[in-house]
Amino acid sequence: MTKCKRCGLKTVLSEQDIQKMVDDITSMNGIRLVDSVTYEKRFAVCENCSNFLYGSTCNVCGCVMQVRARLKDGRCPKKRWEI
Ligand code: SF4
Repeated sequence: MTKCKRCGLKTVLSEQDIQKMVDDITSMNGIRLVDSVTYEKRFAVCENCSNFLYGSTCNVCGCVMQVRARLKDGRCPKKRWEI
């Protein structure tokens, strides 16, 4: 299994891996999230971005976008979404 050199996570995540990360972040106290419409708009941009790899990961910031795009303070490092 190939692992990310930065964070040590698997490079290619399964749907279950991603869902667990989403469940973990959305159940944390004090985490500010965007509404589902904003998340879908952000994620749609990522899905059509040349920096989006393996169906989950931004190769600029290294983040799993199903998580980062849900965060109120989440940002696209290329400023492709600023909502
Ligand atoms: S966060 Fe920005 S640069 Fe990264 S995959 Fe999404 S749109 Fe592309």
